[in-house]
Amino acid sequence: MSTDSIRSKKKDLSSISKTVRLDRRKALASVRSSSERLKSPIGIWQSPAWTLGIVALLCCFTSIVSAQQMSVVMRVQPDAPARVLMEGERAPTTVWSFRDSYAGVLGLGARVSGMQLFDTSGAEIQTHRIAPGQFEAARPASRFRYEVSLDPPGRASDAAFVSWLNSDRGLLMLADLLPQPNTSAAKAPQSAVAREKSNRDDDFGQATVRLSLPAGWAVYTNGNESGQSDFRISNVGRAVFAVGKHLRASRTTISKNVLNLVMDGEWAFTDSDALEMATKVLKSHLDVFGVWPGKQLTLILFPFPQTVAADKWSAETRGSTVTLLMGRFPSKTAALAQLSVPLTHELFHLWVPNGLALDGDYDWFYEGFTVYQAARTAVRLELLTFQEFLNAIARAFDAYASGADRDRWSLIEASQSRWTTGGSVVYQKSMLVAFLFDLKLRTQSRSKRSLDDVYREVFRRYRLVEPQSFPITAEAGGNADGNQAVMTVMKGAPGIQEFAESFIRRAAAIDLSSELATFGLRVERLGLRTRISVSETLTHRQRDLLRELGYNDYARSPIPRKH
Ligand SMILES: [Zn+2]
Repeated sequence: MSTDSIRSKKKDLSSISKTVRLDRRKALASVRSSSERLKSPIGIWQSPAWTLGIVALLCCFTSIVSAQQMSVVMRVQPDAPARVLMEGERAPTTVWSFRDSYAGVLGLGARVSGMQLFDTSGAEIQTHRIAPGQFEAARPASRFRYEVSLDPPGRASDAAFVSWLNSDRGLLMLADLLPQPNTSAAKAPQSAVAREKSNRDDDFGQATVRLSLPAGWAVYTNGNESGQSDFRISNVGRAVFAVGKHLRASRTTISKNVLNLVMDGEWAFTDSDALEMATKVLKSHLDVFGVWPGKQLTLILFPFPQTVAADKWSAETRGSTVTLLMGRFPSKTAALAQLSVPLTHELFHLWVPNGLALDGDYDWFYEGFTVYQAARTAVRLELLTFQEFLNAIARAFDAYASGADRDRWSLIEASQSRWTTGGSVVYQKSMLVAFLFDLKLRTQSRSKRSLDDVYREVFRRYRLVEPQSFPITAEAGGNADGNQAVMTVMKGAPGIQEFAESFIRRAAAIDLSSELATFGLRVERLGLRTRISVSETLTHRQRDLLRELGYNDYARSPIPRKH
C-alpha cells in the first residue's frame, strides 16, 4: 500500500481516505496462472478516493449453475491458533478443491489442513493432498472434516476480502471456507475457462450452515434473523458472517427494506451516526434508481485486525453485504468524513453491478462511473462542496494526463486489461467521461435527462431478480453483455451517440479545457496541478446547469436536485 498525505481533514475529504482497487473478475480468475497472480491488482493503492477507484468490490455474478448443496457445522475457535473446524456432507466426489486466490490474496488453499474424507457409511477414505487446498480421494467421498487456519492476513487491506478471526471478532466468508463445487470437469485437469467458471461466486450453490461459537459470541449475516445458529444459505459465494464477542447490531427500515448495521470497536462517531449516514446515502442512491437492490442489506463496520494508520480503509461489497474495515480517527468530523467515502461508493455497488444481471468486462462503467456518481452523491448530501467536487475531477484529469498510454485503449478495451495496462483509463479517464457525459446529456436534453436516468434505465432493463426460494435452480450464461447493454442505454439519449462512441468505444483524447469551457468551467494549470473553477461570466443556461450539479452562487440553500 502506498499512502497519501493528509492535507486537511476538514477541507479535503478525498485526502483522508486510502483506496484499494480490486477487480472481481480478474481476481476470481486469478487461479489461472501464477504470472497473472503476480500481476494481480491489489497493492495498487492510489491517491484520492474521489478521483480514483476506491474499492474493493466483489460482487456477485448473476447466474447459478448448479443446485449444489452442502451441509456443514463450523466450530469457531478464536484462541491461538485462530481457526474454524469444518465438518459436513455433500454430494460424493473424489476432487476436493478450495479457493486458493481471491482479490489478489494468494495462498488461501494452504490454510486448509487435516483433511479427512469419508463415504456415506462413515468409512474413512484415503486422501491425497495434491497441492495447497487441493485434495483427491481414492474413491468418491461425501463426508468431510478439516480445519481452516484463520490468522488475519498480513496485508491489512486483504482483511476485507477473506475470512479471518482474532480473539475479539472475525469475518467468515463461506467462499474461502467451503470446498468449491465440482463440475463435470472435475476429474480432468480443468481448462482455464472451466476454472474461471468454477470460481465464480454464484457457482458455489447453497448450503445449510450451523455455527458453533465460543460462549458469549454472536453471529450476524445478511438476510437472517439475529440469534440464530442455523442458516440456510442460498448463495454460498455471497455469504459473509460477522462473528464476535462484542458485536453491536442495529437496524433501520427504509421504505420497507431493512438495513442492518453490525459494528465492533470504538469509533469517534456513534453507531447511530453511522446508521444515519448509511441511510442518507442509500436514500440518495434510491432516488437515482427508483427501486431497492434487495430487501435486506447489511453493513459490517469493523476495525482492521492489524494495526493500521487512521486514514486507511478497505471495503468489499459482496452480494448485499458491504464489509468495511477502517482506521480510526480521534476526531468525529474526520472519522465521519472518512466513513462517507467508502459508503457513497460501496453502497452504490449494491445496485451496480451487484444488482444487475450483466456479464462481461464493463468495469469502466461500474467503477469509473461509480467514482463520479459517488462524488455527486456526496455533493448532494453536502458531504463535499462543489469546489471539492471540481477538485476531484481535476485530480482525475491530472492522473489521466500523466499516463503514457492514456489514449491508447478505449474504456471498453481498458476494462479487459485493467490490472496490467488499463487501470488509469478504467478509473480516472472513465470518471472524466462520466462527468462530460452527464454535462452533455443535461445540456442537450435541456435538463430533462442526466446520468441518473441512464442508471435508472439500465437497472430497469437488467435488474437481477434474486431467487426467493430454496433450493435454487437457474441457468448459467443467460446474462446480457454489460458493455452492449450500457452503451445501448447511453446512446439512446438524443445527440449523445457520437460522444459515447468516441470516448467509450474508441479512445478519443480528452481536451478538458475546451470540453469544460462550453459548460462555464475554466481549467487552469497551476504548476503540476490542474484547477477547475467556475467562469466569472456565465450564461443563464450555464449557471442553471452548474447549479444542478451543486454550484451555489448565492446564499447557502438546499442544493437543487438533479432535474
Ligand atoms: Zn467500486
